[in-house]
Amino acid sequence: MKIKDLLNSGNPTLSMEVFPPKTDANIESVEKAVAAIAKLSPSFMSVTYGAGGGTSVHTVRIASNIRATGVPALAHLSCISSTKETVRTQLSKLQELGIENILALRGDKPEGLDESRLDYHYANELVEDIKRFNPDFCVGGACYPEGHPDAPDWKTDIKNLKRKVDAGCDFLTTQMFFDNGLFYSFLYRLRDAGIHVPVIAGIMPITNEKQVSRTMKLSQAFMPTRFRALVDRFGSNPEAMKQAGIIYATDQIIDLLANGVNNIHIYTMNKPDVSEAIMKNLSHLM
Ligand code: FAD
Repeated sequence: MKIKDLLNSGNPTLSMEVFPPKTDANIESVEKAVAAIAKLSPSFMSVTYGAGGGTSVHTVRIASNIRATGVPALAHLSCISSTKETVRTQLSKLQELGIENILALRGDKPEGLDESRLDYHYANELVEDIKRFNPDFCVGGACYPEGHPDAPDWKTDIKNLKRKVDAGCDFLTTQMFFDNGLFYSFLYRLRDAGIHVPVIAGIMPITNEKQVSRTMKLSQAFMPTRFRALVDRFGSNPEAMKQAGIIYATDQIIDLLANGVNNIHIYTMNKPDVSEAIMKNLSHLM
């Protein structure tokens, strides 16, 4: 099943993201979590690609596991540390396994990267290569409601995003955000720039205190006062923080649905219990 068809059907979608293990030793526990999340019947499941490509084998394996459950699979693929040849190899594997959907990413630049020796500099080049390899692949791209951290300004970032969409993106998925107002403004900017592909809103349930600083540092997302207060009040009580984090994410999703945003992606962090709790909270809304 192609994700673009799900997104263009007009029905709301709720999708979930998992990440592969860094080592072979953890593959079984990740596979168990993936199976448990698949049982919740999300619209589709995505599986990330480890920075530098070190976990590419696991990404393919998990994507294939997802597909075997009957849930459509979206495999992430990043290019900054890849050669044209490794990308072609990964695409061949995905094609052989019947994985139809790819999220095409640049990836974060590793420290000390020699940019003169790269096969790929930006995600739009990867999107072009995927479509050239097989125009039938459904390809998504990443977008950033608060701007990508490397971009000098808003206008440039949106211009670059347009370039990526024009290269063949069928849909976009956002970086996580904790303030829906920022997402709504972003949608206006996309429309003004002539970007009309479906945009999936990425929501990260923050369910423990440790996750807060790591997530904010990685995503550079704005932390609203309301969210900060919640962490200050409940952060030291794991059960309370988990409950509050699930409710905050649910509240964000309800606001998005109420404002006509139909496509929601949950960064589940491989936690079936958190995924299930959010789904239960939304059982009559989707
Ligand atoms: P790009 O679209 O290439 O943009 C990167 C920067 O370059 C931006 O500042 C943009 O404005 C600029 N730019 C883009 N095109 C051009 C151009 N042609 N000329 C000049 N400037 C340009 N990382 C992983 O390693 N694995 C994952 O699985 C993963 N999944 C992700 C999923 C989502 C939904 C998101 C939002 C991010 C994910 N990331 C992942 C992180 C991502 O790889 C980083 O944010 C990375 O720094 C940028 O990737 P991109 O594909 O958005 O890059």
